[in-house]
Amino acid sequence: MLLPMKRMVLLMVLVIGSSRLGAQEAGTEPKNLEVVKNELRVYHNGPYVRQMAAVAAQGVAWLEERAARARPGEKLAAIFDLDDTVWSCWAFDQAVDMGFDEGLMERYMLLANSPVNAPVREVVRTARRLRIAVIFLTGRNTRFRAATEKNLRAVDCGEYTALLMQPADYHGTTGAFKLRERERLSREGWAIVLNMGDQNSDLAGGYAERAFKLPNPFYLIP
Ligand SMILES: [Mg+2]
Repeated sequence: MLLPMKRMVLLMVLVIGSSRLGAQEAGTEPKNLEVVKNELRVYHNGPYVRQMAAVAAQGVAWLEERAARARPGEKLAAIFDLDDTVWSCWAFDQAVDMGFDEGLMERYMLLANSPVNAPVREVVRTARRLRIAVIFLTGRNTRFRAATEKNLRAVDCGEYTALLMQPADYHGTTGAFKLRERERLSREGWAIVLNMGDQNSDLAGGYAERAFKLPNPFYLIP
């Protein structure tokens, strides 16, 4: 998560920089940063939760539909991102005032107390009930495996087939890592019926029958 986060900050600077040029050319001033942060807080405390629940409900319905027509011997798997998918990192976002701090992020992950996104946990539980393998695929570095496993147990998601984390020596994007892992799982005979995440980079490149994008306008991970 950390290296991609660094790149995220760089990307945000570039995006904001190019947007500002556009706005200046148009003779308008961009929205004030504090106004935007307030809008994001209002969104998080209202529509965000409802929209997340709606996407999760679609995921539950899809798993039930797909499991009902599984072929004999078919190995079905559902893939879930962790941060702002299975659980919320909103407390961290607020602690850094919607910014980013690598040291604080490390300490936050070690706390292992991210609260569950209950509608998404319902999708995880549905997969387990239907005997669809639950695979967690995260951009978190393997250095945080123990804390991540602890957090999974704390939110009652401690039973799963695999927890795939970015190797300590990996330097590509999180999106490329996740795509590589889904491609590998497919090659190994898994039918990935669902892939759920809060970033487009969780889903880009395919290798899933259905992709479910949860809302997250709070940050960007390439
Ligand atoms: Mg995420």
